[in-house]
Amino acid sequence: MRVVRSVRSIQQLIRKAKSAGKTIGFVPTMGALHDGHRSLLRRCHRENDLVVLSIFVNPKQFGPEEDFGKYPRREQADKKLAKKEKVDIMFVPTAEEMYPEGYLTYIEVERMTHVLCGKSRPGHFRGVTTVVGKLLNIVMPDVLYLGQKDAQQAAVVTRMARDLNFSVIVKICPTVREADGLAMSSRNEYLTVSQRKEAKVLYRSLREARQNVTAGNHSAMAIISKIRSRITRAGSGRIDYIECVDADTFTPLKRIQGKTMIVLAVWFGKTRLIDNIIVHA
Ligand code: AMP
Repeated sequence: MRVVRSVRSIQQLIRKAKSAGKTIGFVPTMGALHDGHRSLLRRCHRENDLVVLSIFVNPKQFGPEEDFGKYPRREQADKKLAKKEKVDIMFVPTAEEMYPEGYLTYIEVERMTHVLCGKSRPGHFRGVTTVVGKLLNIVMPDVLYLGQKDAQQAAVVTRMARDLNFSVIVKICPTVREADGLAMSSRNEYLTVSQRKEAKVLYRSLREARQNVTAGNHSAMAIISKIRSRITRAGSGRIDYIECVDADTFTPLKRIQGKTMIVLAVWFGKTRLIDNIIVHA
């Protein structure tokens, strides 16, 4: 495995691989790798000749009051895991490498970035699409692997790739969960022991909601209010949002029809967790 820090060096390696006719799969991350990232890397390895992993805690997708400073950074452990998962190139640029002095260019997807996480985290998706756009231009992968856990991010990046004619296939991989159902996330480690116990209510309430939809309850308001009271009863979680949305456009829905996503964001202390489930009505 090659650990590469400069854009120039990775571009050289990519050019070589391309001219040898290799297919390239790409998994962008912010590191502190866990089994969720691992599942993306495994699929990437099964489906491509060359596996590229990036680790970059992107300052542009964090708000001024957010956790950029304390976000876990552990390159050595990540390197070990990446090797085990047969990553060929681990790209670990610095912020200066990605955004040299004088940097002025941003990618912005409209409308669908102004709701849900976009509303609570202004500028977040602009940072995400800008960095993913840059990484796609640098790595030039055939396939990009994203996780369903960050559903709005996956939908926004898919929209960007389509709208800007990036020549890449976007594949969205299922959410990997802890034994009690909590979606794996690098941010779970911020939780206290009691918050961690309470946090399992998120997926439980989503699963109950799916059962309710299957049983014929198609009113978004009714489904949302059940989830809300389930979470509120479970302990200290403070709800940021719970919505039923169209799975592609993220438009909020009043009635659950066809393929719908139920999405939520809940605060436990200073930690904001997100999760979602897909339902069919
Ligand atoms: P992050 O490092 O949190 O920015 O995540 C990097 C990629 O891994 C994103 O595409 C995430 O959606 C994906 N990912 C994170 N957690 C999980 C999980 N629990 N299951 C599946 N994919 C995940």
